[in-house]
Amino acid sequence: MSRDLPTGEVRRALHRSADLIADYLENVGDYPVLPRIAPGDVARELPAAPPDQGEPLDQILDDYRRVIEPNVTHWNHPGFLAYFGITGSGPGIIGEALAAGLNVNAMLWRSSPAATELEERCCDWLRQMMDLPADFKGHINDTASTSTLVALAAARHRLPIDVRQQGLSGRPEVPPLVLYTSDQAHSSVDKAAIVLGLGHANVRRIASDEAFRMSLPALEAVIAEDRAAGRLPMAVVATAGTTSTTSIDPVEPIADLCAREGIWLHVDAAYAGSAAICPEYRALMPGIERADSLVVNPHKWLFTPVDCSVLYVRDVALLKAAFSLIPEYLRTDEAGVTNLMDLGFQLGRRFRSLKLWMVIRAFGVEGLRDRIREQCALGRELADWIEADPHFELAAPVPFSTVCFQARLADPADPGRFHDRLNARINAAGPFFVSPTALRGRTTLRVTIGNLRTGREHIEALWKTITEEAEVLRREDGEGYS
Ligand code: PLP
Repeated sequence: MSRDLPTGEVRRALHRSADLIADYLENVGDYPVLPRIAPGDVARELPAAPPDQGEPLDQILDDYRRVIEPNVTHWNHPGFLAYFGITGSGPGIIGEALAAGLNVNAMLWRSSPAATELEERCCDWLRQMMDLPADFKGHINDTASTSTLVALAAARHRLPIDVRQQGLSGRPEVPPLVLYTSDQAHSSVDKAAIVLGLGHANVRRIASDEAFRMSLPALEAVIAEDRAAGRLPMAVVATAGTTSTTSIDPVEPIADLCAREGIWLHVDAAYAGSAAICPEYRALMPGIERADSLVVNPHKWLFTPVDCSVLYVRDVALLKAAFSLIPEYLRTDEAGVTNLMDLGFQLGRRFRSLKLWMVIRAFGVEGLRDRIREQCALGRELADWIEADPHFELAAPVPFSTVCFQARLADPADPGRFHDRLNARINAAGPFFVSPTALRGRTTLRVTIGNLRTGREHIEALWKTITEEAEVLRREDGEGYS
């Protein structure tokens, strides 16, 4: 006897849910990418109080179809070309659904042997795919923000100041700890410094060069300055695939510098790490294999539904020393097993490796490479069209599938907010969603291709929309272009 809903009823609703998902994936392109609603429209459809009595699953699924599905921003839409699209896939969705059915909590090997061992195996598969050394041991977190925080906590633990036991406050003998990253790095680096008690003021944003890569001489100079002032350099975070332009920091010489200085090197490859499964893109990231820790998000560009972030750390014993704390009720006696709770601050863990396993097996390494290559080729083609158009220019090199570009304006300071207005017009049309960025203080259009449903026809239609909408604005503005 089960106090859950009758299995037959659940089975029927699961079948219907499978149809809802498959229909959604098949027809998502019919929606505008951004739902045409105003803040509060969804909330108005939802009863203010919870139901006293249970409602039929069919009725709930009807409401899902009517109120929820149309009113999300459609990340699965072929015209979703904003941010780094969290690119789902059929196999990933199946893995996510199966994980929900099992509902295991992989905090200990004992609390789910299969979840623990599959996570280790999948992380090692991905390590091999990215051509990283065998001593990189991976585990899965929710996001790169968590992975970077955990990695930097290990870096802090390596310093001879016993922060774990004594903390940082009220210790005049402890110098300020300093973190170095480029002016293009993701804000998750700043947040890690804030959470770890370093203080935001002790994050050094190192200037980047003309191709948006961290400047090595600037990094060297700032470290020397900090040492001379009695501060303690803790870690450098180099980025392979920065958020705005996907630029790649010179990791190899940064690794040399870190080795000389005894500074922890963390590599943020949250986005572009996935491209490292293709040898030709891995070759763009020399030196990442020398990191003390590295993060890559399969949920950004390896067709795995959010959330799935893999953190590799070389010195797992150190990571455990930073985090392991075993209350009596969690003590188990299996020797030589991994207890995932020892590798970070959280206890409970979802069975995230199941979806990664599904994705890697269903597409195969070659299939994944083909998809990434196709998306990079689409990005290159868009870049070629931009370069060939006298009204536009690329704003940054295009190493992968993200393209940053600007209109050639009479006044590059863009006093008429041409780019913001153009971006808004592209998004208002319905079939596309692109999100701008700012480079050296100038608003920049940015298209990122990472969605399995996006084909050449969508990029062609997008370029047509961009040029047409720009023409409308140019007429509005008179002499808009240079
Ligand atoms: N690192 C880079 C380079 C990113 O672009 C992002 C997000 O886009 C992050 C880290 C943060 O990722 P998450 O949302 O998984 O925390």
